[in-house]
Amino acid sequence: VPVIGVLALQGDVREHSAMLERAGARTVTVRRASELARVDGLVLPGGESTTVSRLLETFDLLDPLRERLAAGMPAFGSCAGMILLAKQALDGRPDQHQLGALDVIVRRNAFGRQVDSFEEDLDFAELTPAGPLHAVFIRAPWVEKTGDGVEVLATVPATGSTGARIVAVRQGPVLATAFHPELTGDDRVHRLFVEMVRDAATTSETEER
Ligand code: GLN
Repeated sequence: VPVIGVLALQGDVREHSAMLERAGARTVTVRRASELARVDGLVLPGGESTTVSRLLETFDLLDPLRERLAAGMPAFGSCAGMILLAKQALDGRPDQHQLGALDVIVRRNAFGRQVDSFEEDLDFAELTPAGPLHAVFIRAPWVEKTGDGVEVLATVPATGSTGARIVAVRQGPVLATAFHPELTGDDRVHRLFVEMVRDAATTSETEER
């Protein structure tokens, strides 16, 4: 059974843990490097990315987290978690840290200029069983630019003058959504992530042999 950490500095820690347990993982909360060292994958919940960025520094987690991500640890970031995983954030604060695990440029509070929060049914690739996913957006970012090797999993369809907006991506073992899948009863995104953690564990065992 994979052990998945939930970064517990801010946000929906309990909701993410409950979804992951339902999806077949064991979960632990992560607030220090010793806890991070023991997990097979990590969820970065939403919140305020500037605050979480500062707390990562205060809790001496920034470098250990960067090292584990660079070594291929699977991670799933929701909303502020997506912003932190990105290599660059627009409309961020200049001192905000980026973990750089996803080759994307995100825009913070991107939908906020139109509306703070909204819900939308999305086509989301790779979910089992397939079918529309009800997504809750709260002061959400979008992905403005993707690099090579970044797979787009979901977009908010174009409306009137605005084009389609990328709201879910995957790059190898890293998954990110601009919305909050922990807030609905649908655990398919968490199941996808648990599968990704299982796959990564099998691959590294094969490599060790
Ligand atoms: N607006 C927040 C940020 O920029 C993200 C909001 C969220 O995580 N729900 O960090």
